[in-house]
Amino acid sequence: MTGSPLEIVTQSSAETVAIGQALAGCLRDGDVVLLHGDLGAGKTTLAKGIAAALGVEDIVSSPSFSLVNEYDTRRGAAVTRLYHLDLYRLRGEDDLASIGFDDFMAPVEGITLVEWPERASTALPERFLLVEIETLGSGSRRLRFLSIPDDEVSGRRIESLRSHIGSKAD
Ligand code: ADP
Ligand code: MG
Repeated sequence: MTGSPLEIVTQSSAETVAIGQALAGCLRDGDVVLLHGDLGAGKTTLAKGIAAALGVEDIVSSPSFSLVNEYDTRRGAAVTRLYHLDLYRLRGEDDLASIGFDDFMAPVEGITLVEWPERASTALPERFLLVEIETLGSGSRRLRFLSIPDDEVSGRRIESLRSHIGSKAD
């Protein structure tokens, strides 16, 4: 029982960054967060908020030459490392194998954020947090948080998210 998914509407990129910062407080080593949405929806913007909360200021906004960027987080943070994958330019399963995609789907030390996860739909893990971002207007975005699979662990995760970031939804 996961209860109803959490939905938040933001009115600016700064608000989306703030949601990312709050979301980071719910994340622990081993977590995988999939960021789904069209080009310009705000996936990287949300990733920047998560990164900033972990002490990573210089996240690369568009990893055009590498599919993966890795960062150390602030010393003492609950999350050890940040792996940021952007699969927009993924050409196929060979690319997944060459970056060692499976390891990022079960991060031992750190968390993984994935933009364009649908490009790797056959290689996704059993458990992840999915954030669907939808453009409503020029400055307005709907963020929908779903924890997969639909079980008790996911239910607790959504409740934790609700208490960390739900207050920003009003
Ligand atoms: P993506 O990674 O999904 O392609 P980006 O995060 O790189 O998207 O870009 C989102 C663009 O939309 C940025 O130019 C940002 O300033 C703009 N934007 C406008 N309103 C919002 C909002 N509410 N949340 C996030 N981004 C927004
Ligand atoms: Mg992006």
